[in-house]
Amino acid sequence: MSKIIVTGGLGYIGSHTVVNLLEDGFDVVIVDDLSNSQHDILRRIETITGKQPEFLQLDISVRDNVMSVLRRHSDADAIIHFAASKAVGESVENPLLYYRNNLNSMIFLLEGMQETGIPNMVFSSSCTVYGQPDKLPVTESTPFRPAESPYGNTKQICEEIIRDVCNANKNIQAIALRYFNPVGAHDSHLIGELPRGVPNNLVPYITQTAAGILPELRIFGDDYDTPDGTPVRDYIHVVDLAIAHRVALRRLLDRRQKNNYEYFNLGTGNGYTVLEVVKAFEKATGVQLRYRIVARRPGDVEKIWADTTLANRELGWKAERSLHDMMKSAWEWQLHLRDHPELLGS
Ligand code: UDP
Repeated sequence: MSKIIVTGGLGYIGSHTVVNLLEDGFDVVIVDDLSNSQHDILRRIETITGKQPEFLQLDISVRDNVMSVLRRHSDADAIIHFAASKAVGESVENPLLYYRNNLNSMIFLLEGMQETGIPNMVFSSSCTVYGQPDKLPVTESTPFRPAESPYGNTKQICEEIIRDVCNANKNIQAIALRYFNPVGAHDSHLIGELPRGVPNNLVPYITQTAAGILPELRIFGDDYDTPDGTPVRDYIHVVDLAIAHRVALRRLLDRRQKNNYEYFNLGTGNGYTVLEVVKAFEKATGVQLRYRIVARRPGDVEKIWADTTLANRELGWKAERSLHDMMKSAWEWQLHLRDHPELLGS
């Protein structure tokens, strides 16, 4: 049985991926410092899967912590590295925190892989590496644009670090997955996103507004060059994303890579405007949403959606879940959270 170390395995995308790996028979070791999750998510993963993954509560921006995990599990076949700070606004206010957390952990993990001989890594990257591309849909060969935030910069730098290490050390193989906009929750409604404080992202903002926690959704601008003037994004169901991690992992384990460092866009290939998302939410849930158009949000790109040809062809993976499915599961998760406020630490 292959053993996989999953950093950030109790986070939003991490927990869904852990469930998928356990269901597929992988042996999973979760490393998470609980900075953006709750211990109860572990129990929920166990309820869904009937399995008990090992859990280590550790901060992997500390070198000794990384080395102790990797030495103890030097028989691991791969690392899936999710653990990172991810709030764009916070990264602008406290860039050093972001550079320290996100870059140190990457460097220490790669050093640990070189030392222990753990050969494979799957890395959480983001479509933010592209900025606003000139040509849409965006392919993997689209060049990086200067990052809009320290958070975005850490994703670019991490990809560059992996590329250089893979160039220098052919025993290390890695795949970076560039997520578009992950939304939705697991069918069980036992795991989902746990936004800290007032959400920055659109879908948790919508569900909290619908639940009466927030008074109204503010839509940031309707004067963009898009079908209805609101920005276009490629929203992808978190379960589709989780499956893609397992598929990428299999590619590494089966040595099917064309190059020891590869990167793929993970989206549906469909772009939706903010107003289309609002309408899809209302249709999927029967709940009317209060919203108001306000000024543009600084740093937002106008439109982006993925060309998923490479992931479809090379990984044999395709996102299956619709915007309707995403909205329905996001709402059901919000209703679950209403009955379990302790999950948000309140
Ligand atoms: N958005 C919005 N109101 C909000 C949050 C987001 O209108 O309260 C818009 C935002 O301008 C963007 C889209 O929703 O066009 C997706 O934003 P999100 O922060 O979820 O993801 P991003 O693509 O910015 O990473």
